[in-house]
Amino acid sequence: MSTDFQRNRDNFCYRHPDRQSFVLCQRCLRTICPECQTPAAVGVICPECLRDQQKSQSPAQRKAERRWSRPRAVSASSGQPIVTYAIIGLTAFVYLLTLIPGGFGDSVQQTLLYWAPLMYPDVTGRFEPWRLLTGALVHAGIWHVGLNMLALWMIGRSLEPLLGRWRFLTLYVLSAIGGSVAVTLLSFTTPVVGASGAIFGLFGALLVIGRHIGANIAGIALVLGINLVIGFIPGFNVSWQAHVGGLLVGLLVAFIFTRTRAVRQRGLQIGLLVAVGAGLVALLFVPVVFPGLVLA
Ligand SMILES: [Zn+2]
Ligand SMILES: [Zn+2]
Repeated sequence: MSTDFQRNRDNFCYRHPDRQSFVLCQRCLRTICPECQTPAAVGVICPECLRDQQKSQSPAQRKAERRWSRPRAVSASSGQPIVTYAIIGLTAFVYLLTLIPGGFGDSVQQTLLYWAPLMYPDVTGRFEPWRLLTGALVHAGIWHVGLNMLALWMIGRSLEPLLGRWRFLTLYVLSAIGGSVAVTLLSFTTPVVGASGAIFGLFGALLVIGRHIGANIAGIALVLGINLVIGFIPGFNVSWQAHVGGLLVGLLVAFIFTRTRAVRQRGLQIGLLVAVGAGLVALLFVPVVFPGLVLA
C-alpha cells in the first residue's frame, strides 16, 4: 500500500511532490495542494493554468479583472476551511437556541435530537427521519458543544483543504448518519445528542489519510479523549455507539477517497458514496426484519 501510494502521482501535488492532496485543477485536472489552489468560476485552478488564463485575456479583460477581482485574488488561498466554519457556526447557533428559556429551547432540543423509535411509524406512529442528521446539531451542555467544536476545528483545518469542500461535507454528513444508525442497532431506546459521531468519522478519515499529511493526530486524540472522559460524569449519557458508528463510516469513506482519486474515477467515487448512504439507510431495516435482535 505504502509504496504503491508513493508511486502514484495522482496522490500528490504536481508542483510539490511531497504533499498529498485530493483536489484537482479544474482546467488541467492535475492534483494540487491547498497552497497551489486559486478559486475559479467552478472549483479551483493551479498556478500554471491561472497564468495561461491571464495571458489569453485581452488588455480590457485584464483591466476589468484587476478592477473587480482584487479581493478574490488576495484571498487566493482557497485553503480556508469554509465548510468547517459553517458547521461550527450552525452548531453554535442551534446550541444558543436550545438555551432560550420558557420552553422554546427545550422544544428545539426535542425536535432535533436523535431517538431511534421515531424512525419507525409502526412503533411510535411518527416518522421523523431528519433526526438522523440533526442529532449532530444539539448538545448536552457547554463542555459538550465546546469540545466537539474544538475537535472539529482542529481536524477540519487540515482535512478540509486537503479533501475539498464537498468531499469534506459528505464525510461529515455520512459519519453523523452512521453514528445515528449505530445507536439504532445497539441502543435502540436511548435518545442521543451531539456531533461526536460525525467528529469520530473525521478522526477515522484522518487515520486513513493523515499518516501522509503530518496532521497533529496526538493533539486531536487528546481532545476526543477528554470529551469521552467528561462524558462519563454521572448525569450525562455518553453514546459510545455513535462514536463507533461514526468512526467506521469515516474509515470507509476515507478509504473510498484514497482509492478513487483520479479524474476518470470521479463517477465511481460518487457512486460509492451514494452506496454508503444507501447502505446506512438499509441498516435501518434491520430492526424491522429482526425485531428480537434490537429490541430484546
Ligand atoms: Zn491546471
Ligand atoms: Zn502544491
